[in-house]
Amino acid sequence: MKSKTAFRNAFARYGGALALDQSFHSSVQFGLRGLLTIFRGYIKKGHRSERPGLPYGNIYLDYVDNAGFNAIATIYQGKELIGIFPGAILQITRFFQAFMSDPTVFPGIGNAKMEKFDPKTIDELRQPSLPLNRSPQYPNDPLRQTIAKRLTFLGCATLFYHEVGHLALCHLPFLRDTFGISMYEEFPAVALSKKETGIRRTLELGADVVALQNSLVTWTKMCSGKKFSELHSIDLVSMWGATMAMFFKIMDAIAKDQNIDTKLSTHPSPLNRLFHAIFIAGYEQKPIGLSLDRQRLKAGILEVARWWRRNKLPTTNDESRRERVREFSIYRNKHNRIYDRLVEYQIQRAQAINSG
Ligand SMILES: [Zn+2]
Repeated sequence: MKSKTAFRNAFARYGGALALDQSFHSSVQFGLRGLLTIFRGYIKKGHRSERPGLPYGNIYLDYVDNAGFNAIATIYQGKELIGIFPGAILQITRFFQAFMSDPTVFPGIGNAKMEKFDPKTIDELRQPSLPLNRSPQYPNDPLRQTIAKRLTFLGCATLFYHEVGHLALCHLPFLRDTFGISMYEEFPAVALSKKETGIRRTLELGADVVALQNSLVTWTKMCSGKKFSELHSIDLVSMWGATMAMFFKIMDAIAKDQNIDTKLSTHPSPLNRLFHAIFIAGYEQKPIGLSLDRQRLKAGILEVARWWRRNKLPTTNDESRRERVREFSIYRNKHNRIYDRLVEYQIQRAQAINSG
């Protein structure tokens, strides 16, 4: 069985594999295809690894023919698959472009005076489930336009790495053997049992750590390499912080829009995940040999938070810091309890990849 066929079968009920044809505007086709090529390249490069649990293996990645905002990791007919809904990519694009098109956002980057606030754009962002029939607003200043493009890329890469995390950390075989579940939907349509919800929330944070560390490595390389010289002029730490904040706030807006009760859903609330991300980024960068300045990180996050508030963008009920810390420690404890079982799966998976 080919991975492509497995993908088509696995995602048939969501619309199957997406054909990137003339029904898309040429720039959208180009953008979606470009991302796919880059991410497939990352998978190929990370195929094997000495460290258990971390090899990417033979993951097959493609788009699902579905306009919704979702991403799914699954093992189907023996193949590890990631299906990304193009709606997620288009929404992430929309938010980052609008952000950098606001003259008050990062006024020190490029010529911010060239930007113009567009109430129509903001109106669209407030209703993320509406069909995307208008092309996004792009910044006028060329440098800001390029930066918006890079941040969009980083946001999409974070989503991609999050799904890789579910597969590399062996969340799928674990869920299959524990609950008989074979698909890991980011926004599942069916209600789950309380026990399953608790475990799923724990796994989410695990996949987030993989997403954050990988996105940080990718971003650091992009910012220091020769290819993207425009990135030499920005503060990489605050921009990375801004991207993470935007990523989780978009997820939060989608949860709000889909009426997902973040207290009962399978995922910890996106705002709690952001809190967790900042914690991880501030303290636990040893595995990738980086340390981040927390003040700069905070500056980037605040830039997004202020823009979000100012424009009254959708958000679920905010929780207190104490509640966040409490939830965080509950899931850390839960994770410790299932850690050994996950590692067993990870060692098996790594052996299979390295001997295959
Ligand atoms: Zn997830």
